[in-house]
Amino acid sequence: MPHMTAHDRVSRGSTRRLTLVVGVMIVLTSLLLIGVIAYVGRIADVQEASQEKNRIENALNQSVARVLDQQKSVAWWDDAVKFVTQQPNDEFIDSNFGIFLTETYGHDEVYILNARDVPVYSYFGMKREEPQAFERRRNQLASVIAAVRGQKDVPLTERPDFFIGRQQHYDVLRKVLAVAAWKGAILTIDRRPAIVAAITIVPNVDMSLLTVPPDVLISIDWIDAPFLTQISQLLLIPDIRLTNAGVTNSSATVTEPFVTDDGQTPSVLAWTTRRPGWPLLTLVLPLVAAAAIAMTALSANMLLRLVRAADALSSRERAARHDAAHDSLSGLPNRYLFVQAISEALDELNADHGDVGVIVGYLDIDRFKDINDTLGHKVGDELIQAVGRRLREHLAPSDFLARFGGDEFAIFRIEQGESHQTPIETLVADALGSPLRVLNHDISVSTSVGLAQSPRDGRSTDTLMRHADIALYEAKRRGRAQFTWFSAKLAEELERKREIELALPSALENGEFELHYQPIVSARNNQVVGVEALSRWRHPTKGFIPPDRFISVAEEMGLMPKLGEWVIREALKQAGSWPDLEIAVNLSPAQVQHTDLLGLLKQLLIDSGARPERITLEITESLLLEPTPKTRTTLKELRQLGFRIALDDFGTGFSSLNYLIEFGFDKLKIDRSLVSALSQAGSAQTVVLSVIQLGHALGMEVVAEGIETEAEAVTMRFWGSDQLQGYLFSKALPADDLQHFVRDYNTRTPQLDHHEAVAVSGAGDSV
Ligand code: C2E
Ligand code: MG
Ligand code: MG
Repeated sequence: MPHMTAHDRVSRGSTRRLTLVVGVMIVLTSLLLIGVIAYVGRIADVQEASQEKNRIENALNQSVARVLDQQKSVAWWDDAVKFVTQQPNDEFIDSNFGIFLTETYGHDEVYILNARDVPVYSYFGMKREEPQAFERRRNQLASVIAAVRGQKDVPLTERPDFFIGRQQHYDVLRKVLAVAAWKGAILTIDRRPAIVAAITIVPNVDMSLLTVPPDVLISIDWIDAPFLTQISQLLLIPDIRLTNAGVTNSSATVTEPFVTDDGQTPSVLAWTTRRPGWPLLTLVLPLVAAAAIAMTALSANMLLRLVRAADALSSRERAARHDAAHDSLSGLPNRYLFVQAISEALDELNADHGDVGVIVGYLDIDRFKDINDTLGHKVGDELIQAVGRRLREHLAPSDFLARFGGDEFAIFRIEQGESHQTPIETLVADALGSPLRVLNHDISVSTSVGLAQSPRDGRSTDTLMRHADIALYEAKRRGRAQFTWFSAKLAEELERKREIELALPSALENGEFELHYQPIVSARNNQVVGVEALSRWRHPTKGFIPPDRFISVAEEMGLMPKLGEWVIREALKQAGSWPDLEIAVNLSPAQVQHTDLLGLLKQLLIDSGARPERITLEITESLLLEPTPKTRTTLKELRQLGFRIALDDFGTGFSSLNYLIEFGFDKLKIDRSLVSALSQAGSAQTVVLSVIQLGHALGMEVVAEGIETEAEAVTMRFWGSDQLQGYLFSKALPADDLQHFVRDYNTRTPQLDHHEAVAVSGAGDSV
């Protein structure tokens, strides 16, 4: 399971956070919507109730004005002054006041007070009573009486006076209004609310009848059920009533304390309110709430899916990122991650400049291709995995191990100050010290490892990796199971090689090669008997480049067949002008293995007219290491054509007696390294002597290469070398110089006489 990186956690966290925010917003919005609806509904109800209250209030005020108006119709009247005040007439008063007001207008109690506020008339309970009956009401009505008598600051709540408004329309009343007085109020009488109206009895036409102070007419009209029913019908507010039962529970009922003008609260006013917000609360609200819940559930579902999808996406992304950074076969980090990790480490290290370094190692399984070819790819794959596991087990936990593909692994390690860590070399060697068990095979593997170290070998990822690669290349070149540290010299060599690679292809076309010839001298008579053709490359800008450096590159680049052909062609051409000299030409393995060497040589023999017996073809042991059938037949046919074959550089490589016996060479060239070892006493001398004797025993001519001193020449001669070659005589010369050299040398140097030669070489014939 790919592990979660910090980045994953952040992106995952932010998705969740976002989802949470959206979720909370949806819930809040739903709640807000519900709240607004509930609030609006409630407000509409409250406002309606308060309007209803106002309308009821207004109706009460109008009722007060109505009662006054009804009183006025009899109190403001010339006859009333005459028959109430001046010559009281009981019948008149009864019919026009007591009976009229109660029966026509429904007043409940009617009283008249004279100028000194002494009751002169009382009517209630549908009949006339003793005037003194008024006394039971006097205290309760005192404030109203005081007001109508013109007293200011009466302890009564002010009400708007609608009565005066109604009188303005009557022109005839203008004089009356100037003298009349009235007061309407709602009072608590016997703990019941009632409209109390008091008005002065004044003339309406003959103002001379006016008495001062005038009598006062007082009416009490109970605010009772019939009264309220009337208002109810008028205002279309159902069920207005007074109750002492206090608050009812029904939400449709509004209750208001009924406060009378004298500040008492005899009962509670109640009515059924219209509640315009009710449908909102009972119908719309549940619908909206249901919709909100549904919406919330829906969004919750969607958000949940979103989170899941985001999680899935991020885990897929994580997996993809893991795959992109890891090798699928071994599960190890790949090059991409490796580069990233080194870069990060280097950034940190370069920043603090401490006593810290980074080691980068490239590791290559030796001969992996062979294992793959012989045991199959399945075993190869398993082997890679096993090597990966082994390395991982043995390396330090802090060492970073990656696989670059193929059989290449890479390691990097951070070195802190005086490092006590076991060297990578040791760990790797330990890891692969015992065979690996892979699909029933026990496979021993060795690795070539190239190492580079910062800061010594570079400070950038690029440089370190390149240098580790160069070191690996060198390790492989040196053979198997090698650990090679990068060095400046390595880099330089590589650089030079790269330059050669660049310049080589065009060099051939530009004719930058030439052949020089090194004389080969007969050990018997000290005469030049042959030459070896050696290639020279004169680079126009870099100057002389020795064959040791470009021949191997040309082989690697596949240019050797072409270059070799040029060499043979050139040498054979030259051979024509030196009919007395043998000519030796070096063949590279590629020429023998991969070209039609026979065809070429046949053709060249015809072209140049040279005799093959005069031409020696020099091959090296590397060609014989793994001889192919083609190698064998080519060598055989070359000899049949008449060419002489020499085994060059004998004593340097894997020199095996088998080769000598199997291939039957004409010549054996003892390498300079053996020759120069002669000066050191010891086994070298025995070896050289044995080689010479062996060569002779197998019928070969023996050539000693690299003779530099007279002593070497004498010794090789004494031991029986047939021919000598070396700087003592001459190095390789251009064709013209060689011609002069041969002439000079052969005449200058005294020929060894026969006896001398025999004495020296111990051999038979001289040439
Ligand atoms: P080689 O075939 O063994 O040639 C002899 C090498 O030893 C030559 O080096 C020669 O200059 C050098 N030598 C001769 N006498 C002395 C001496 O007294 N002391 C020392 N120190 N060196 C001596 P050179 O010319 O640099 O060639 C090196 C090698 O390159 C040759 O070794 C040969 O293997 C290869 N090579 C040269 N030319 C050709 C070519 O045209 N084709 C092929 N295939 N290989 C060539
Ligand atoms: Mg040679
Ligand atoms: Mg040689």
